[in-house]
Amino acid sequence: MGDITPAVTPLGAYAPRRFMSTQRPQNQFGAIVVGAGPAGVAAVGNLLEEKSGPILWVDNLFDGGRLNKHYREVPSNTRVKRFAGFLDGVEVFKQIEKEMPKPNGMTQLRSLDQENTCYIAEAADMCMSLTEGLSEERGVWKQQGSVTKAAWSETNQWSVSIAPTDTSVSPVTLSASMLILCTGSEPISGTLPAPNLREIGLDPALSPTLLSQTLSKDTPSTVAVIGASHSAILVLRNLYNLASSTHPHLRIKWFTRHPLRYAEEKDGWILRDNTGLKGHVATWAKEHLEEDVLSASPVSQFLQKVSTTRGNEQEVYARELKDCTHCVQAIGYVKSPLPDLLVNDQKVDLQFDHDSAGFEDKKTGEVVRGLYGAGIAFPERVTDPEGNVEMAVGLFKFMKFLRRVVPQWKA
Ligand SMILES: Cc1cc2nc3c(=O)[nH]c(=O)nc-3n(C[C@H](O)[C@H](O)[C@H](O)COP(=O)(O)OP(=O)(O)OC[C@H]3O[C@@H](n4cnc5c(N)ncnc54)[C@H](O)[C@@H]3O)c2cc1C
Repeated sequence: MGDITPAVTPLGAYAPRRFMSTQRPQNQFGAIVVGAGPAGVAAVGNLLEEKSGPILWVDNLFDGGRLNKHYREVPSNTRVKRFAGFLDGVEVFKQIEKEMPKPNGMTQLRSLDQENTCYIAEAADMCMSLTEGLSEERGVWKQQGSVTKAAWSETNQWSVSIAPTDTSVSPVTLSASMLILCTGSEPISGTLPAPNLREIGLDPALSPTLLSQTLSKDTPSTVAVIGASHSAILVLRNLYNLASSTHPHLRIKWFTRHPLRYAEEKDGWILRDNTGLKGHVATWAKEHLEEDVLSASPVSQFLQKVSTTRGNEQEVYARELKDCTHCVQAIGYVKSPLPDLLVNDQKVDLQFDHDSAGFEDKKTGEVVRGLYGAGIAFPERVTDPEGNVEMAVGLFKFMKFLRRVVPQWKA
């Protein structure tokens, strides 16, 4: 893989203009889609392909979800052509691309080297252009707000309560035959391992700009980074880049339980495709963080690796965190909180089916009618040729899953 684009497209270069929903259908919608991250975009596109509109689409911002909000400066772990594959996924996206005034987030993505990686900003801008194009003329009504509750009954099917973003506007309740949850995930934030530490959230730590503003350039600080995932390595690289340039008093302590795990190209498939390190992050980790290279790498001037095990972690933390000032916990992601979900007036505990994208009631095992999920919170389960099971995460994979299952979705 070659170099990635040197500059990140400025925030919102292709941001959708603000909108006001007018002349909404009075009667029931075909589907209500919750969330306008890439999964929401793909779900709306696939529902239109299956003629399941009109669609009510709900999100507080309609600006690309977490890709735009938090990951613009993150180098992608997928090649540009995978984002282009997302764009080619459904007919309505191709129409939007053809008809939208240029330049836009789609033309920008097409102009990049398709075999290379890019910054996530490029994928975020593509999603924002698609969001703008998924308009009322195409049967998509956008409601700015947050879904707080959804209740299914035989008479109304899904009745969905929405708290508008504009708090001066009263909450609304609207109905649809299907409800699609594309609500995303967020970093796990566990209790800090020592009381003396100031937490730096994983989201700001993934942005070199925010990280640089968070840390002092003049006073010594030592940041503990916990974890060895893709996100953890991105944070280590961001910190190293600061320590070796604008923040000379910055030091890093990296706490890891296990060796680094890389995605591996096999014959026609990828081992650890969804869990292993990829792209520039993998290259950097191999060149600087592996046991046999770290001590000779310039990274070791600023970074100290501390190996832990589940058994000795507390003891190691007590000893090694004493001289740390800050902590970034890169210990995984968890589903964002779901709205309250009721079936026939009873709260349901849901079990997601990673093959059909539907849900069951955990207690009764019954299928919850007309309820589906997509995206990082509700991914497809895949098994590789060696029998390893993973969750398929990434824009192209969300699209591929939806292409397979949406034709089967019913109220
Ligand atoms: C660090 C990192 C790097 C990644 N890099 C790549 C990459 O290179 N390539 C790739 O393909 N994938 C990548 N991914 C994976 C994935 O594409 C992203 O995580 C993506 O943001 C997931 O999209 P989503 O739509 O499922 O969720 P999100 O982007 O989180 O969007 C969810 C949306 O739902 C809204 N929402 C939630 N609850 C409600 C509610 N009750 N009412 C209304 N709206 C609601 C949220 O506000 C948000 O706008 C990366 C992930 C991470 C963490």
